Amino acid sequence: MGIFDTVRFDPPRACANCETAITEVQTKVFEPGLREYHVGDLVQGSPILSGVIREELYCPGCAGSDHRKPQFVWFSLWHTLLVGVYDTPQEAEARLQEVDRAELLNYLARHQQAALTWHDRFSRLYGELQNYQDYLRASPEEQQDRENMRFFRIREILATDDPLAALVSSNKPQNPEDETEVGNEGL
Ligand SMILES: [Zn+2]
Repeated sequence: MGIFDTVRFDPPRACANCETAITEVQTKVFEPGLREYHVGDLVQGSPILSGVIREELYCPGCAGSDHRKPQFVWFSLWHTLLVGVYDTPQEAEARLQEVDRAELLNYLARHQQAALTWHDRFSRLYGELQNYQDYLRASPEEQQDRENMRFFRIREILATDDPLAALVSSNKPQNPEDETEVGNEGL
């Protein structure tokens, strides 16, 4: 399909033909860049500032079946902010009229929290890698001194048979969304 973006559904939608849970739709209507969007995200390269865009839904459960009717979703975009995904253009249009400031604040808070989480995660990984580099460059005498303050932060990692593997493992992302990213690393 080439380059596309993915819009994730939370909660999943049920296929109108076979009831299969559909968790996402791939789309090229924005500026395709393999980005993943949720409701509450600003989309990159939207062809419209505010309005409604139709996209065809792909169902893994009944794709290829002769009896399947094509089904669509409508994205509601408000100043390029994805504010909803709907089954009908009427619902998507109506949504545009009711965007309020409290919701916008919630979206902002969620993004700020996510940025903080990534910042903390990066800082920890960077700090531990830096300590490990110091350790590798240290003299054998210094390395023997497990209580050395320079290595104190990674002393449990250094105690393992394979410190680098332990360091990578201890910085592995925890939440399900990030596990997907970990799983895709080899692709
Ligand atoms: Zn289906």
